[in-house]
Amino acid sequence: MALRRQLSETEKEKLLKQHGRRCFVDGEPIPDEDPIEYHHVKPFSEEGPTTLDNIAPVCRRHHLTIGTMSLQEYRDKLELEQFFAGGEPKYLDDLIRHKRGHCGERITYEVDDETIVLYFRDSPHRYPLHTCPTTGWRYFYATLPVEYVGNDRDLQPRALREGSLWSLYRHFITNTQLAPSVCRIDEGGALILFDGQHKAAAQIWAGRPMIECKVYLQPDARTLKETNVTAHGPLRQMSFYSHELMKKYADIFGEDWSEYVTSEGEKSELGFHNFLVNVKKKTKAQARNEIALATYNGIVDDPGNKLSAYLSEKHRGRKQPLSLPRVKKTFFQHMLMPPPVSDEFESDTDFRKEERRNLVRLMNIIAEEGLEGRWAPERSDAAHRKAERMFSAGAVRAWVVLLKDIINAHLRHYTDQERRRFFYRAIPDDDFDYFRTFVRKIFTHKVWDDPDPAGEITARLAKDDATTAKSLFDEKGLTVQWVLGMQKTS
Ligand SMILES: [Zn+2]
Repeated sequence: MALRRQLSETEKEKLLKQHGRRCFVDGEPIPDEDPIEYHHVKPFSEEGPTTLDNIAPVCRRHHLTIGTMSLQEYRDKLELEQFFAGGEPKYLDDLIRHKRGHCGERITYEVDDETIVLYFRDSPHRYPLHTCPTTGWRYFYATLPVEYVGNDRDLQPRALREGSLWSLYRHFITNTQLAPSVCRIDEGGALILFDGQHKAAAQIWAGRPMIECKVYLQPDARTLKETNVTAHGPLRQMSFYSHELMKKYADIFGEDWSEYVTSEGEKSELGFHNFLVNVKKKTKAQARNEIALATYNGIVDDPGNKLSAYLSEKHRGRKQPLSLPRVKKTFFQHMLMPPPVSDEFESDTDFRKEERRNLVRLMNIIAEEGLEGRWAPERSDAAHRKAERMFSAGAVRAWVVLLKDIINAHLRHYTDQERRRFFYRAIPDDDFDYFRTFVRKIFTHKVWDDPDPAGEITARLAKDDATTAKSLFDEKGLTVQWVLGMQKTS
């Protein structure tokens, strides 16, 4: 997040006096010969106008990779990596204790026919009680202090996942929470959370002291456990089929899919993969490819995907810049999380839907910046010839990887795990404005319209391998550093 106005020299002096000549990110001194840059501590949107107490000095290196993150987010990110370092499984309890110092405090309450009164922070809080017409269980909605909430190990035995938590954390910076987390107060009076733990954890990580909950009052734990299992099991098939990607599964796999979905247990790509291998006796490669196909088709058939109009398979007999095999070898191979993933379908850790939306958005930017109004084989003018160069076999292979590296740098994906989850996450709108700038910059590079009397450039860009076009890019200065503006054009 760039500052919205220039700082005066006096303001800069004031900030340096307050913070010292140190980078706010890690507290390291900024060497005298390096420039000092300035960045928002909290997101601009939360803080209103640029005020000095919300700005801090940072070093150039950190500033270049921070992207749209505020310094607060950046530090939260480093802290999250620390929290998960060591590989021990971490639960909601651990996270609350880490952020708030304590957790699972006992809540006292009084109940009458229509209301429940909770005592916390030295005062009574009154909520209307509702009754479930099926089970007779009573429940209420409340926004509660997190230190009173614990983890329901019995109903929710799974540990927190770092990647999911970070994606949701970034999601909640710009989005509201739609549905509350679900808790119960057990016979011993403990308030424990059993559904929606990642979204609760993400908000606590963002520093929120209260979370939104639906709370059941001493429900029968055994029945509730069965309900919870069913809600994530066979009953979910209805929502499976209502969902686009799940419709693809049903189309592609037919009876295999119905059989799998109605079987016992949690449903995921990995589960389905294992079902295809163990029950249907497919090879692992077959199972993987078939599952990938559902994801691919979902993206290509998305009616909002503008790049699909430029696929030869969709327009037979007309010259097109891209083919399905090429899109697989480039966008799909590099930008999708390789299947099968173990996240439960449509749970709050399943990001296939977001991944598809993200990739379609990026593909639209590419269609808009590279092809629309340019691709015209019938005219075959300068603009078309340029587009032909940009979309020749080796060129696409090389710039898709380049674009991925740039986006990884921008989103600060440093670990292998983060790079693998590339678009498998929620990405704020602001970042797509950056992505457009990156694409635009790649497409304005001179390699696309340099004179080529001997046909050498054309030949090197056309060679359908992973290295020839890349080495041409390097020679001509089309690199990550150039696109990110870290290096002057030669
Ligand atoms: Zn720094």
